[in-house]
Amino acid sequence: MDPNVLHNISYGVYIVSSNKGNYLNGQIVNTVFQITNDPVTIAISVNKGNLTHEYIEASSRFSISVLEQDTPLSFIGKFGFRSGRKEDKFKDTKFKLLDSGCPVVLDHSTCYIEAKVINKMDCLTHTLFLGELVSSQVLKTGKPMTYSYYHEVKRGTTPSTAPTFIKEETPGKTVGAMQKYRCVVCNYIYDPAIGDPDGGIQPGTAFEQIPDNWVCPVCGADKSQFVKEGESCNETV
Ligand code: FE
Repeated sequence: MDPNVLHNISYGVYIVSSNKGNYLNGQIVNTVFQITNDPVTIAISVNKGNLTHEYIEASSRFSISVLEQDTPLSFIGKFGFRSGRKEDKFKDTKFKLLDSGCPVVLDHSTCYIEAKVINKMDCLTHTLFLGELVSSQVLKTGKPMTYSYYHEVKRGTTPSTAPTFIKEETPGKTVGAMQKYRCVVCNYIYDPAIGDPDGGIQPGTAFEQIPDNWVCPVCGADKSQFVKEGESCNETV
């Protein structure tokens, strides 16, 4: 089997949020699909170990925020690589509470959809929730981010808990003069030829020249969490 064929399947980048009473959480989801038109139903795939999964089970509600194309990696990292069990992801995030009590993230979102769970399917590590559309709103005009744009242009990475994670996706070893470095938390590759313009690091900047207060643009890990690309290390996600 060639797992690379799976890279040819297209997805988007979304934040799925839910609540359990007054507790709120949200996470990045790339598997969001409209299933039927009348009534409008939407399916999402969520890892059973995630806090958002627990909240959807509790409230039978979820919202989907469609992220815009120029959403910063750090924002995606906040919702995609950190757990709501350790921090409040809604702190410093613009959101609103819907009448149902379900939160919806507004930052970097072109629109949102709220759905009520009407069915679900056990999919081993994940649950496929089928929701019927309850409310929706366009927030701004703008291009939604696709998963390929996130990977190829933003150079984002995928946590091992995602339904579409592929073990073999770690990029190849360094070719050329300047050493690439890899974040051991999220597998983000710092490529000196590209730098990190969003983080103020110009193209052509060697990893050693980056200020010590720089953090991984995807997950927020500090410089000490980076290893030379091509060297082995213990994976933490
Ligand atoms: Fe990282």
